[in-house]
Amino acid sequence: MAKILCVLYDDPADGYPTSYARDDLPTIDHYPGGQTTPTPKDIDFTPGQLLGSVSGELGLRTFLESQGHTLVVTSDKEGADSVLDRELPDADVVISQPFWPAYLTAERIAKAPNLKLAITAGIGSDHVDLDAAIGHGMTVAEVTFSNSISVAEHVVMMTLGLVRNYLPSHQVVLDGGWNIADCVARSYDLEGMQVGTVAAGRIGLAVLRRLAPFDVNLHYTDRHRLPESIERELNLTFHPDAADMVPHCDVVTINAPLHPETEGLFGDKLLGTMKRGAYLINTARAKIVDRDAVDRALRSGQLAGYAGDVWYPQPAPADHPWRTMPHHGMTPHISGSSLSAQARYAAGTREILESWFAGTPIRDEYLIVDGGRLAGAGAHSYSTTTPV
Ligand code: NDP
Repeated sequence: MAKILCVLYDDPADGYPTSYARDDLPTIDHYPGGQTTPTPKDIDFTPGQLLGSVSGELGLRTFLESQGHTLVVTSDKEGADSVLDRELPDADVVISQPFWPAYLTAERIAKAPNLKLAITAGIGSDHVDLDAAIGHGMTVAEVTFSNSISVAEHVVMMTLGLVRNYLPSHQVVLDGGWNIADCVARSYDLEGMQVGTVAAGRIGLAVLRRLAPFDVNLHYTDRHRLPESIERELNLTFHPDAADMVPHCDVVTINAPLHPETEGLFGDKLLGTMKRGAYLINTARAKIVDRDAVDRALRSGQLAGYAGDVWYPQPAPADHPWRTMPHHGMTPHISGSSLSAQARYAAGTREILESWFAGTPIRDEYLIVDGGRLAGAGAHSYSTTTPV
């Protein structure tokens, strides 16, 4: 029987919800491109419930305990005396969400001889040291596509929020004011702007599709070029790399995974080549940008705005400079954890566990590391320093 250690974010400050704002979720059975949404044999939760917090338990307890497994759920993940560190040495499976990541460093993995499977309930497994996971013979899997559209919607919201100066204008209302000039002195239309995405995978392409009706000019860079039919349909300009693309753009959105190729990509140098007053939206991973370089670029006016929901570390400390830098539209890491997304990634986590315990293959599109190498989606989108 296995021990499953599940690290989730805390319940709401006022306690686990007893009612919700809406009664149901739309039924979505496939993603753009045709991949089906998760297909577990069964689920023990009601879609629309809060599943990503400790009391939500990703809806897994009944399923796991009915099979004799042990489920430990905690939000306590930092420091040598954390529940994560205390429970890890005999854990077989670790489940974590990028919003509240259980950083599975090489040191932690080395202390967990039984650890065979790390599941990301969501997308983005950079909180797992993939080289160490490969060395340890682990499988790493994530629920590919489960929240890609959720993030794309957040990117569109943040793009409009920054360009139109929404949050400061909303603050004027909250403060009881009515100074129109205060609101509009930094407000523009998105129409006609040059908008580029670093990476046009599931999220990046969904962002491009959603922004196209705003009559903007769309740009992208990616390791693999999109089909010509999509480039034509969306009138896309392809650039061989970010350095070639960003000088042309009024808005840049980052939608690439964090891996050795993308870490630190947006430092002083690249930011300095952007148009003065460009906007940067990063819902991918914080370490793709240089924290202090972004702060400097906002203060100097090189960037007119920065928004996103990804920080390092997470949770971000109270004195993180991004909390107080000017012209930002940051949220905590929430874009991929809407109640809609939670229903999909909880079901996907269950699907992965069902396959794992039955000894049947995990869907190839969910795999990041398997069989001692990058596999499935991981082989397509990530890089490691481990030779494959
Ligand atoms: P995909 O795997 O569908 O897309 C990632 C894309 O990035 C791929 O097209 C890949 O290229 C491309 N890419 C990889 N390396 C580079 C590079 N060096 N330069 C340019 N492009 C590159 O993933 P998603 O779109 O679903 O998610 C992307 C990332 O967004 C995740 O890895 C995660 O970090 C983040 N994310 C954030 C969430 C949030 O809540 N804020 C939730 C979900 C995801 P190719 O495959 O062509 O090689």
